[in-house]
Amino acid sequence: MKIESHLAQIGSIKEPVTGAVSFPIYQSTAFRHPQLGQSTGFDYARTKSPTRSVLEEAAAKLESGDAGFACSSGMAALQTIFALFSQGDHLIVSLDLYGGTYRLLERIMSRFGVTASYVDTNDLDAINELWQPNTKAVLIETPTNPLMMITDIERVASWAKAKGLLTIVDNTLLTPFFQRPIELGADIVIHSATKYLGGHNDVLAGLIVTKGKELSEQMAFLHNSIGAVLGPQDSWLLMRGMKTLALRMERHQYNATKISEYLQGHSAVEEVYYPALPHHPNHDIQNKQSSGNTGIFSFRLKDARYVEPILRHVKLIAFAESLGGVESLMTYPAVQTHADIPEEIRRQIGVDDRLLRFSVGIEHVDDLIGDLEQALAAAKQEIGEE
Ligand SMILES: *Cc1c(COP(=O)(O)O)cnc(C)c1O
Repeated sequence: MKIESHLAQIGSIKEPVTGAVSFPIYQSTAFRHPQLGQSTGFDYARTKSPTRSVLEEAAAKLESGDAGFACSSGMAALQTIFALFSQGDHLIVSLDLYGGTYRLLERIMSRFGVTASYVDTNDLDAINELWQPNTKAVLIETPTNPLMMITDIERVASWAKAKGLLTIVDNTLLTPFFQRPIELGADIVIHSATKYLGGHNDVLAGLIVTKGKELSEQMAFLHNSIGAVLGPQDSWLLMRGMKTLALRMERHQYNATKISEYLQGHSAVEEVYYPALPHHPNHDIQNKQSSGNTGIFSFRLKDARYVEPILRHVKLIAFAESLGGVESLMTYPAVQTHADIPEEIRRQIGVDDRLLRFSVGIEHVDDLIGDLEQALAAAKQEIGEE
């Protein structure tokens, strides 16, 4: 079966008692034992819970892994993964990284003696230079958020494998519909399912998918021991969202491609960062390892004074921090999502005061372009340009 069919059918053939097409929400934390020494497979909901299990099996299948783990948020998923590491361990991490992941590593994991070095993970020589005998893993975000840099997953994963390191990929932006890192050699995939997988700006969730028996058992132990698991209601909401992932991703991609082309030609815009554009420096790697493009991109304005009026004048597009939902959202990374990254590093990666990030929704593309057009025109007028 193709991925579209797997997605549409999540949970729908798994409820044997009533035949319910939509898998039920099992709102129970305790499960009765048939008799001493026997279990239905469910004992206590932190360890395993029926609605969550259906979601976890679907996640593992979609990402071509062996086991899936649903967490209460993307950050909870990352924290659970980081619990694989011990004092003295070192990680190599994509430089242009989700701000919350950077904060978790620098403000929390560092206190437990786990250190991280940040680098353009597409630069294998630079990665090699950062390698230390205590390096345990490479954590890749591709595309990065917000600058949409691409890492060649296969290349890095094969280098990591040769060194005995784990390859962890944050696949939030592309989802398994467009990219499956485990098929390219990764060991662990992590998602903020709050974004495209949920897709409706209404559920906070994280997913982990692991490859291999030993790693899957280790992750199951950590998932249960730490306990940052997803509840049955949110597991159900996430599955409901995932059923339409294929349709949504195609529309997100279509809209984002049209709008990035429009903005690239606009007189107020200096540069658009979107891997679907042929001039993007990693366009070829993106095409090699992914079957499509995400619905989010960033663009740099020619003048920082445009930012405030644009955010005030957009009407259909909401000025809000998130991405991946059906509704279009625009955010200002330097003061919002990436505020926890020191200014010096932000400058180095290009998250400056002229950069806006646009999570393109599934509205009609003409309406979105119309909204941008009027907001950009109003901004230009306010600062005294025509
Ligand atoms: C949002 C996000 C996270 C964190 O996920 P939450 O669900 O907000 O906890 C991690 N990685 C990426 C790439 C994200 O966009």
